Amino acid sequence: MTKHNISSIFLIFLLISTIILSVIRSVEAQNIEVYSESLTAISRITYNENNIIQKKDPEIKVVAFDSLKMPILMYHHIRDYNNSKDPIGTGLSVSPANFERNIKELIASGYTTISFNELIQHVQKGAPLPTKPIIISFDDGYDNNYINAYPIMKKYNQKGSFAIITGYVGNPGYMSWDNIKELKNNGNEIISHTVSHADLSTLSEESLKNQLGQSKKDLDTILGQNTETLIYPCGKYNQLVEKIALESGYKLARTTKYGTEITKNNLFELSTVRMTNSSSL
Ligand SMILES: [Zn+2]
Repeated sequence: MTKHNISSIFLIFLLISTIILSVIRSVEAQNIEVYSESLTAISRITYNENNIIQKKDPEIKVVAFDSLKMPILMYHHIRDYNNSKDPIGTGLSVSPANFERNIKELIASGYTTISFNELIQHVQKGAPLPTKPIIISFDDGYDNNYINAYPIMKKYNQKGSFAIITGYVGNPGYMSWDNIKELKNNGNEIISHTVSHADLSTLSEESLKNQLGQSKKDLDTILGQNTETLIYPCGKYNQLVEKIALESGYKLARTTKYGTEITKNNLFELSTVRMTNSSSL
């Protein structure tokens, strides 16, 4: 055999091995992808079927809840504010006059405001809901909610769901515990918006347990309630966030995604209707 032939055979061998190796690699890669995909699907299905209810309290039966179309309005600031240097703050502000207009429109359209807790009772036990239910939620716990929104809600006999960042209570611009207690004692609902408005999608399991568990514990203790609704800060969440939320005792969580459809499979991914200063119902 010539030197030339030996090197040709070696080259062909090398080529064939490379091809075989790359085929094996691509098959492996496919398998991993398929596997992790099915794993996600399985964990989702399991998680959704175990839904909230069965694991925590086996006596409570999930009634045949399937889906429901219902707007969950999302407000932040209720204030007169138009600052070109602060487009985000301006975008998150609805004037008291326009807020009052929204409340009038809502009543004229035949909506009845309910709480997240009533929604939970409906999902879990089949508790009846009004014909056209709607939730009015307020994110962040700003003091203008108490100063401006609360009197209007009271005037029209409507109730709101106020999402509180427990670590910010009493800070300048935020409601005090006294404000929050007054809201609660007058038919409004107080829900969790974590301890410090952290981006939950970036947190470790340990930090998540604190953000979700501690805020719930504080609200439960200070207000004498069982807080079961969570609003994700800036709508950020992932599967781990949902898992820790469920384990911390929450039964619903709202995102910032647009939508009005509530199904038994999206109770930890509830969508919302963002209200701006020019929104109407
Ligand atoms: Zn927020």
